[in-house]
Amino acid sequence: MATETHLSLSACETLDTQDPLRELRQHFSLPEGVIYLDGNSLGALPAATAGTLAHTVTEEWGKGLIGSWNHAGWFELPQRLGDRLARWIGAAPGEVVVTDGTSINLYKVLFAAISIAKKSYADCRNSQKSCKNIILTERDSFPTDLYIAQGLCAQHGFELRCVEAEELAPALTPDVAVLLLTHVNYRTGAMHDMAAVTAAAHAIGALAVWDLAHSAGAVPVDLNAANADFAVGCTYKYLNGGPGAPAFLWVHTRHVDAFNQPLSGWWGHADPFAFTLDYRPAAGVARYLCGTQPVLGLRAVACGLDVFDACLPLGGMDALRRKSLALTDAFIELVHQRCAGHGLALVTPRAALARGSQVSLTRRDPHDPTAPTGAYAIVQALIARGVVGDFRRGSGASHPDIMRFGFTPLYTRYTDVWHAVEHLRQVLELGEWRQPQFQGGHAVT
Ligand SMILES: *Cc1c(COP(=O)(O)O)cnc(C)c1O
Repeated sequence: MATETHLSLSACETLDTQDPLRELRQHFSLPEGVIYLDGNSLGALPAATAGTLAHTVTEEWGKGLIGSWNHAGWFELPQRLGDRLARWIGAAPGEVVVTDGTSINLYKVLFAAISIAKKSYADCRNSQKSCKNIILTERDSFPTDLYIAQGLCAQHGFELRCVEAEELAPALTPDVAVLLLTHVNYRTGAMHDMAAVTAAAHAIGALAVWDLAHSAGAVPVDLNAANADFAVGCTYKYLNGGPGAPAFLWVHTRHVDAFNQPLSGWWGHADPFAFTLDYRPAAGVARYLCGTQPVLGLRAVACGLDVFDACLPLGGMDALRRKSLALTDAFIELVHQRCAGHGLALVTPRAALARGSQVSLTRRDPHDPTAPTGAYAIVQALIARGVVGDFRRGSGASHPDIMRFGFTPLYTRYTDVWHAVEHLRQVLELGEWRQPQFQGGHAVT
């Protein structure tokens, strides 16, 4: 329905009334007059979070004091939340922890992957076969993933090889030890076939490490079915855990008890309160914990997961994905119909299987291809109208500036999509984005 040629406002209203997930929007506290299309960067505030945090502060901390580590269940939060998150990423309970940040978790799992590769190919320097010391990734990876990999390469004598997405298959040569990929690309919204790519990595003896920052809570993920090796991801994007919320980490059971995470802190110890002299890793994924965890942040993650629990009786991830695709289809179609002639182009793959829950657009001046894209200013002009998307700077002709629009099926309505495109049409038609106040730079884009 969403892809029919003329999607009217009244058709969108009908889709909203018939939406099996429509009641989930009430689980969020959204400001009046804002169409929020940036839940892929910072998820919206669940309505329960403020009260839960207030309770955690005044009751559990204020009155329970240190006893709350036991009595309020603070101590087990990383594992308990991991168990709850597991079903949304195709993991089993006991395989996931919610802890630290994505960058730090990536450091841990990438270190582990490198250690495993080194152990398997320890003799390569003395043998004829070429050394297996390459981390292969995409040039368009989120920069922190590249930076963390660069840091580890420098420490381990490895080399980071960055290629374009379409060159990944031929770049999987026998010297590749680790394939590090973001499942859904943060710029383009393109999604990899996790099972197929993991199998291709395994076929050359490489390990597959997945970043699920733009996948968890947004698209179906099945880490175990894909036979992946390691995964990390954020909870502050589609999972609505709040700014800087603790991230998650998953390790396949075949690797988890080989101890090789580098941050061997006391929370990952088999018996932290034994206060023994020597480090002894806990069994399972708990060994990937490091130090004392941010309880307030973890409590907020729980509120985000509560909304996903409420989604289960309404169809769970299947229903979320169905609506997400319908919303993104509607946006793509409406931009095509109503914003033609303004030089916009779709960066996100059109095929449903090949994209996540965001749509990325670029712009090129239809009269002067060398003119600035205006992407930043268009996003700013939209924000001034209450339509919040974001901008990601490009790096040359094949990686242009991008306008990103995230569609979170938990709270986005079809009418929001319609109005967002109408605002975009007006911003372009009226040349509103050319106004000086939209040209300036903020620290966070
Ligand atoms: C958002 C994002 C991150 C963020 O990492 P932090 O440590 O939370 O800052 C990492 N990787 C990808 C792919 C992302 O999209």
